[in-house]
Amino acid sequence: MLFIITGPSGCGKSTLVHKVLENVKNVRFSVSHTTRNKRDSEEEGKDYYFVSKSEFEQMIKDERLIEWTVFHGNHYGTSKREVEKKGSTGDLLLDIDVHGAEQVKSKLKKAVFIFILPPSFDELKRRLEARGQESAESIKERLDVARKDIRAYPHFDYIIINDDLEKAVLCLESIIRSMRCSLESKKKEIVPILQSFTED
Ligand code: ADP
Ligand code: 5GP
Repeated sequence: MLFIITGPSGCGKSTLVHKVLENVKNVRFSVSHTTRNKRDSEEEGKDYYFVSKSEFEQMIKDERLIEWTVFHGNHYGTSKREVEKKGSTGDLLLDIDVHGAEQVKSKLKKAVFIFILPPSFDELKRRLEARGQESAESIKERLDVARKDIRAYPHFDYIIINDDLEKAVLCLESIIRSMRCSLESKKKEIVPILQSFTED
């Protein structure tokens, strides 16, 4: 199952995703392509595939992306290859922006759409500042985008308010675990059980 995790920049998406990857088996992370500069804490192929703008544009031309967006002047996108490679064997988490989530929604009906909300605007601002990765201008733009993007929440299946981190992690894990018990997910497992009930 694909889990599309979105919400304003700084709300805690990547923190939540990393915790869940540590805690839950058979969950993988969809590594996006980006033209943004690598942060010191990031690893090529683990956090992102860092590519040039021309490489990214070639991927768009070749229709190799399921969705893509431009955020603060940088391109970000999810490749079909990444989803096919990692999504066929278990659960896959996509950490993408609202615009990308809406593109996925128009293409894939089966994915689970999760919106992460910060407890307040002021706390979002505090988190972006405390992360210490962006310039004041980048933080301002992220906050401006957040004011608009937040209105998309009604289009999502689940809302997680990331106030207390432990509780928010538990919510995300619970959504993943409950989807594993859905009729759709259990269909294959049910076949031999049903067969064992048929008369000789
Ligand atoms: P995103 O991936 O949505 O841009 P991050 O996961 O990078 O956001 O989180 C932004 C900052 O907020 C990070 O410094 C992170 O450690 C912090 N953070 C995340 N969740 C919480 C929380 N529940 N309480 C306090 N700080 C948090
Ligand atoms: P950051 O620069 O903080 O890593 O990411 C900026 C924004 O881009 C975040 O909201 C993040 O969720 C989003 N993002 C990361 N990868 C993708 C992607 O592949 N597609 C889309 N649409 N957004 C992405």
